[in-house]
Amino acid sequence: MTSLRVLELYSGIGGMHYAVKESGIPGQIVAAIDINTTANQIYRHNFPDTPLWNKTIEGITLDDFNKLSFDMILMSPPCQPFTRIGLQGDIADLRTKSFLYILDLLPRLNRLPRFILLENVKGFESSSAREHLVKTLKECGYTFQEIMVSPTSVGIPNSRLRYFLIAKISTGKVLDAFPRLAESDSPEQPTLLRPPHPGSCQPEEEMQGGHFLYKLETQMDAQRKENQNNDLSIRQIQDFLEPQMEVNMEHYLLPSKILLRYALLLDIVRPTCRRSVCFTKGYGRYVEGTGSVLQCCMETEMESVFRGLDQCSGQEKLQRLLKLKLRYFTPREVANLMGFPQSFSFPEQIPTKQRYRVLGNSLNVVVVAKLLQLLVS
Ligand code: SAH
Repeated sequence: MTSLRVLELYSGIGGMHYAVKESGIPGQIVAAIDINTTANQIYRHNFPDTPLWNKTIEGITLDDFNKLSFDMILMSPPCQPFTRIGLQGDIADLRTKSFLYILDLLPRLNRLPRFILLENVKGFESSSAREHLVKTLKECGYTFQEIMVSPTSVGIPNSRLRYFLIAKISTGKVLDAFPRLAESDSPEQPTLLRPPHPGSCQPEEEMQGGHFLYKLETQMDAQRKENQNNDLSIRQIQDFLEPQMEVNMEHYLLPSKILLRYALLLDIVRPTCRRSVCFTKGYGRYVEGTGSVLQCCMETEMESVFRGLDQCSGQEKLQRLLKLKLRYFTPREVANLMGFPQSFSFPEQIPTKQRYRVLGNSLNVVVVAKLLQLLVS
């Protein structure tokens, strides 16, 4: 197979670029485009030889795109317009403008790219941006498939449920059809991506109902977490941690103020767990729903810390919580859980919070690599 010319739109820190490498598909990124200067610094640091355009997509002309003569588009348009927590401005949101511009350009390109892969948040599937996308793809003669996948489907102990669309230009042959990607209505067919556990990649904020246990957690949450931890097809968190001596633990321990105020809202995992919640761009700054924290002291039982915690005085409460030695995952560990290879690194001057931020916007490399293989096979 000849090397594919790949256009990476909304390139961020290059999750898509790593996915191409990981997939083993011969390809070169002919241009990566993003306006975020921090993300671009990181991209450049890791891929100094890739042309990176620090430009708004809607400012790039049809002519410029034609000159790139690409065979594949990889893109993760900004997701804020579609997140359930956001305002759901959808296509009225200014941040969708660049995406609509791409859809407008596509049919007018001198040569249609053979392959397209798009990643977005859950919620995109019911947006009108998605309707525009599907309509455009059909008009241009693409066959496509949509799928929701979480990294747990590829054995990684991290939930990050995302919408993916893969499309290829139709040649009118039966071979054009995509293999079945995940669980569907005919269970006897083999699946290429293991369907996630019921509820395992369901956003935690959507789970509700039941009585609170000793933590601000319901029986149902606890059961779901236990099921995930018992799923041997998923690796353990410890496989993704940095060697002890390499982490400056002090730097990552949760400060007392946070412990006292938010202890009941934390999602706590141990190295032997086979689960963690999605790391978002607010990790390390906000506590609720931004990602799991790690319990470093194994001798302390969670229950002994949390039972009756509410009745304790501030001092005692803190004493108890400190026993768990809770720390944030380091950016390197978050990158590991997101499938970034060891060769990925941050320029030294990028502060920790910014590292979390760009990682939170990125994607799971292993998941995308799998989808690329399916797309091109
Ligand atoms: N897949 C990327 C992250 C995508 S997040 C990764 O692996 O890191 C969306 C990115 O789109 C952000 O980095 C943001 O800076 C960029 N972006 C948003 N609007 C844009 C526009 N109009 N033109 C170019 N880039 C844009």
